[in-house]
Amino acid sequence: MILHAMQQDNENRMTATSQTNNAEAAWARVLDKMRQSQGDAVYRNWLKPLTFIGIEDGKAVLGAPTRFMREWVQSHYMERLCQFWPFEYPGVQGVQIVVRSRRTLRQDVKSAKDTNDERDNPAAPATIKTLAIPVEEQACQFGSPLDPRFTFENFVVGRPNELAYAVSRRVAESNSVVLGCNPLFLYGGVGLGKTHLMHAIAWHIRRQNPGRRVMYLSAEKFMYQFIRAIRTNEAIAFKEQFRSVDVLMVDDVQFIGGKESTQEEFFHTFNALIDQNKQLVISADRSPSDLSDLEERIRSRLGWGLVADINTTNYELRLGILQSKVEKLQVEVPGPVLEFLAHRITSNVRELEGALNRVVAHATLVGREITLDTTQEVLQDLLRANDQRVNIDDIQRTVARHYNIKVSDMHSARRSIAVARPRQIAMYLSKQLTSKSLPEIGRRFGGKDHTTVMHAIRRIEELSSQDPELREDIELLNRTLRHQ
Ligand code: ADP
Ligand code: MG
Repeated sequence: MILHAMQQDNENRMTATSQTNNAEAAWARVLDKMRQSQGDAVYRNWLKPLTFIGIEDGKAVLGAPTRFMREWVQSHYMERLCQFWPFEYPGVQGVQIVVRSRRTLRQDVKSAKDTNDERDNPAAPATIKTLAIPVEEQACQFGSPLDPRFTFENFVVGRPNELAYAVSRRVAESNSVVLGCNPLFLYGGVGLGKTHLMHAIAWHIRRQNPGRRVMYLSAEKFMYQFIRAIRTNEAIAFKEQFRSVDVLMVDDVQFIGGKESTQEEFFHTFNALIDQNKQLVISADRSPSDLSDLEERIRSRLGWGLVADINTTNYELRLGILQSKVEKLQVEVPGPVLEFLAHRITSNVRELEGALNRVVAHATLVGREITLDTTQEVLQDLLRANDQRVNIDDIQRTVARHYNIKVSDMHSARRSIAVARPRQIAMYLSKQLTSKSLPEIGRRFGGKDHTTVMHAIRRIEELSSQDPELREDIELLNRTLRHQ
């Protein structure tokens, strides 16, 4: 179905169908309800900036000014939005948010107007314009939907994931099965990018090679569909559906374990596809041989192709991911804050992204600049969980050793630069690597005032941004401390 446009830009308001008016009025009511349920601050910061674009295929299409906003609204307010819409505008079953700057919207309105003006018949209904929603936003025909953010372009490559990335690319770029890579088995801990790589393969094939049929689905969905097919006597259609694809990707196969009949079906589908020379990509949170819930013959078959693991992240990769994310979100986050996050949120990439989102959201909400201090405040709970148990004594000892001064100098009031600088570095590292407050750090450095600590931190931030040698020193110290 169709669409009615556009947004409430008064100057440019086009002659609209009454449906458009209705839909716009419905959006105003939805907004009002959202304001009541979420409060004024949320309304002002996240909801008001959204623009109503139209209704398409039973979905209310909203425009967010930036990617970041879209992601945030999607993860926090989507459920509510979806609940309110059908009450205000029957027939709307979902909400879709696209990134659209106000400028593009104006252009849309203008071109809709132009088309309108060209019409000979003034009585004709206003332009009904189908929105060109980018390919990435469209729902997928088979299997589970793909996340538009999970592309190769958005995947940051580093030592821990380079093999998995390289083979995924090869599979994606090939027109047929890649020799020695069938199945491609990707494994690694939670939140390290398995799903991202699988979606990236699917996106790539869909764009480069639309004739190749790709199906991506989670193992859970596979099981669910299989069980439903059996119940409704559609097992044959179910099998056909899978067997007619060129590339089948099943995510998180560790969940297939247990149920014997589904295991069996999975195994048959799997074998049939391999025999027909179709590409398979499988992921799990552990290696094939560790999938103890699966039958032995399935396990060994899964390991026949190429098994690529994604290792836990290292500092460089985490920093790279943060930098790329900040660039995409078009937000400004100071370097030391990114470095701090890369040092401290080590569990996985999902948590790292979550931490960055929280910090940015907080700054947007309270309208304050992002600093190390606000970051630590906002992420208190997360930091504690990721705490590496580096303590101030370790820091003082390690820094003193590195600069060849006495540990007691860390507590002294000596101002000579040879002593004062390492002391400042140790204070800076204490702030970065522990959850201690400024006054507490001051106390541990011979009873200094918290402003002295703050000054030290600023000074080191400043110096290290100009002096690559100092930066390297700090990096080295950081690493030593975290691995001792
Ligand atoms: P998994 O499936 O292994 O549990 P995901 O693929 O869902 O992990 O990744 C979790 C989050 O981290 C996703 O938002 C994903 O985009 C992001 N991510 C993981 N690895 C990378 C990477 N190398 N570059 C960019 N983003 C990444
Ligand atoms: Mg996953």
